[in-house]
Amino acid sequence: MEILKNYNLKNKNTLGLNARTKYYAEPASVEQLKLLLSDDIYRYVPKMVIGAGSNILFKSDFDGLIIFPAIKDIKILREDADFIYLRAGAGVVWDNLVEFAVDRGWGGMENLSSIPGCTGAAPVQNIGAYGAEAKDIIFLVEFLQYDGLVENKLSSGECGFGYRDSIFKRELKGKGVITYVTFRLSKRPSINAGYEDVRQALNDVNQPTISQVRSVISSIRSRKLPDPAVVGNVGSFFKNPVVHKTVALHLKELYQDLKLFPAGEDTYKLPAAWLIDKCGFKGTRTGNVGVHANQALVLLAYEGATGEELINLSETIIKTVKERFNVDIEPEVNIC
Ligand SMILES: Cc1cc2nc3c(=O)[nH]c(=O)nc-3n(C[C@H](O)[C@H](O)[C@H](O)COP(=O)(O)OP(=O)(O)OC[C@H]3O[C@@H](n4cnc5c(N)ncnc54)[C@H](O)[C@@H]3O)c2cc1C
Repeated sequence: MEILKNYNLKNKNTLGLNARTKYYAEPASVEQLKLLLSDDIYRYVPKMVIGAGSNILFKSDFDGLIIFPAIKDIKILREDADFIYLRAGAGVVWDNLVEFAVDRGWGGMENLSSIPGCTGAAPVQNIGAYGAEAKDIIFLVEFLQYDGLVENKLSSGECGFGYRDSIFKRELKGKGVITYVTFRLSKRPSINAGYEDVRQALNDVNQPTISQVRSVISSIRSRKLPDPAVVGNVGSFFKNPVVHKTVALHLKELYQDLKLFPAGEDTYKLPAAWLIDKCGFKGTRTGNVGVHANQALVLLAYEGATGEELINLSETIIKTVKERFNVDIEPEVNIC
């Protein structure tokens, strides 16, 4: 396994930010990963794991080892009358895995079609879209801990999944590498077309299949979201804030066009895009960064953008939203 030194990460993050790492390695198996981590040179340096870099903002160079776990095997672990247990390596491209499952008629991943990134990152923020979340199908996560190179197996319940959240963003952050994820997929899929756009697109289809759901969602996404190959972005830069119902209902009284989404007993999720749009940021540009004209949740990094410029813009947005609505929004992207 080659260890690259002073490696430029510009092509390894979808914001296209220039940042360098002291060391970079792509171990292709758990054995290679263990060899790397037991080497005296790398054992004690700061470490970070990367997938496709579609949810990372580098604010500076990284003075340590960045690891891309290039573990790419996919295997059926077992099956019963109702379910397939599919184990995939952290380095498998997420959408290739979704395609693999959908082509075989195994349901559960189709609503998560066309999300950029690798399989190992799916549990980290419990990826979600179009009424589905990774937690609904994750059965087991294999995690190699730096400390003592212990191999842990976490059941879905032990992963502490929440809205764009998991134990891997909290207690286990920076503590090791997700090497494999096992998914429980249904052999008798039910269609999840609750989202307005999806329902409309499937309106004329009698008994839609998961393959049709995948294709509809992929085309909606490519229409709505900017392609990182064209302009740097990480999809939604911010999370939707969850607020107490008194705050939500008060805002609703003031702004009839605000949509509220129930999120628990006494709380509602507010659309951060709406809040940002109301503050006038949509479609604006400052220097080499800006806010997407069709989707205010998406910040854009034009050629030459720096992490600092993005952070400054995001802080201005957070402050303005707070002043106008007294609501806190926070980044979804991982700032490193
Ligand atoms: C256009 C666009 C659309 C998007 N749409 C969505 C969406 O609809 N829903 C959604 O949830 N997200 C979305 N995202 C965000 C992103 O695609 C997901 O968060 C994705 O899971 C990130 O995968 P990645 O491999 O690029 O992870 P990275 O960006 O490389 O890493 C993300 C975080 O996970 C950690 N990590 C990655 N791999 C591992 C591992 N093997 N072990 C331990 N830690 C690891 C990293 O250290 C980092 O903290 C979108 C991004 C873009 C650019």
